[in-house]
Amino acid sequence: MRKVNLQKTKPRSGAVQSVLSAYRYERSQSLKKAKQQADIITSLSIANRTVARKNGESGIEIAHCGASVSLPKLKSKPEMKTEVNTAVSSFEKKEDQNITSQKSPSNTAAKGIPAGNEILTQDAENGVNLIYQIYRISAHAMDLEKFIRQTCTILSSELHIDALLAYLYDDVTDRIRRYHCVGMDMSRKHDEYVFPDALIEKMMRKRRGSDKTQNFIELNQEQMIELFYDYSDIQLFGSAIVFPIFFDETLLGCLAVFLRENEVFAQQTEKIMMAVCAQLSALVQNIRLYNTLTRELEEHKRAEEQLKKVNEELENSAYTDHLTGLWNRRGLIKHVYEQIELMRVQKNSLSFLLLDIDHFKRVNDKYGHQVGDMVLVDFADLLRANSRTTDSITRWGGEEFLILTTTNIGNTAYTYAERLRKLVSIHAFPVIGEMTVSIGVAELREGEDFDSWIKRVDDALYAAKDRDRNNVVICRDEESL
Ligand code: GH3
Ligand code: MG
Ligand code: MG
Repeated sequence: MRKVNLQKTKPRSGAVQSVLSAYRYERSQSLKKAKQQADIITSLSIANRTVARKNGESGIEIAHCGASVSLPKLKSKPEMKTEVNTAVSSFEKKEDQNITSQKSPSNTAAKGIPAGNEILTQDAENGVNLIYQIYRISAHAMDLEKFIRQTCTILSSELHIDALLAYLYDDVTDRIRRYHCVGMDMSRKHDEYVFPDALIEKMMRKRRGSDKTQNFIELNQEQMIELFYDYSDIQLFGSAIVFPIFFDETLLGCLAVFLRENEVFAQQTEKIMMAVCAQLSALVQNIRLYNTLTRELEEHKRAEEQLKKVNEELENSAYTDHLTGLWNRRGLIKHVYEQIELMRVQKNSLSFLLLDIDHFKRVNDKYGHQVGDMVLVDFADLLRANSRTTDSITRWGGEEFLILTTTNIGNTAYTYAERLRKLVSIHAFPVIGEMTVSIGVAELREGEDFDSWIKRVDDALYAAKDRDRNNVVICRDEESL
């Protein structure tokens, strides 16, 4: 019966290899000296640069990441200090070399650094290597599917595994489904394989039990075939071990290892798999959390933009006349104060032109309300087409329109009004053909308020109506009306 174990023939990864070689070298050198004299011991941590003394023990120990080297006995305290400092700097120098040599895994071996006593067994070292490789790919993993695929590749290349299935909870389908597969039927899509409910229950039961660490499930051939019947090549395997990935009490998924007949899993490998699952638990949860937060943030941003747009639309519609698309009374009142302020800063003049279509009631009476609407729209377009972009046009009431304009040098506002009046009188309106307009004009006076200004332009309009309509009246001062 073949024992499935960590692969012993594999070269160690660069980082682990060079650090271990350095430990061994240090240790073998210093142990020789330590055997000669030893009655003071000072433990020194390179990592945090503190020197601690242990009385009654012998030698000087330099401890670093669990590996230690011993130095000879020293005569006096100052001498001891010097010796320790020398040892530290020599160790640090070698450590620097190790860090540099991590880029080239075989460096230390090539330099002929002798292998001393093993700090880690070969199995443990390979286990560390494997965990380290997963740690490395996890550093930039945001894509869960890719991360699981890479993890499976590492596991299947570092361990003697005939087939490996990775299942994870999928929030779209609300099921634990396959994310990756090595060495088994790959004819169907991953999400078509759902993790057996019976196994979920079994795992949860085991999790609730007293020993939360030994919670993997071993399946004999019969159980395995029954549970993984949807794999066409399941008959090729003799047994399976399913390692759950729990986060707290939530089952995130599992790694299922399939073995050929007459194969068993070595205990070491089981431990490695459990450690990997524990590592995956936190990593998967982190990636999930990151993805959820990113998604929620994006949704939040989108919703915020939509809300802003809707608010803008609402605001616009509150200030817009629906028939003509011009400002309504509220729109003008909202903007007119800004315009007045601007005009005062720029020392410009502002004028109102109030236009009222003559005998518009007759249009409605003769052609109907719908035609009347068409004429109003056409009238608004005519004003728009013949005004400047700096002018603001408002539908002030039914067939009354108010233009706010900065054109007032001498008689410019009057000229502007006259031009509009003439344009209307020669324009061919839909259905009705001709019609005319009366216009009142009033310039804003120094310190005048809005109501007084409007009243004056309204009066000017009345005066224009009085003058037989199709007329422009400018309000120069109270007396002229
Ligand atoms: P005047 O020359 O004195 O201004 O006469 P007029 O008929 O234009 O004035 P009057 O105030 O008597 O009538 C205004 C008409 O405008 C009455 C109303 O039916 C019409 N009117 C107001 N708003 C609308 C609208 O939105 N659509 C249509 N089709 N007609 C409207
Ligand atoms: Mg009117
Ligand atoms: Mg009218």
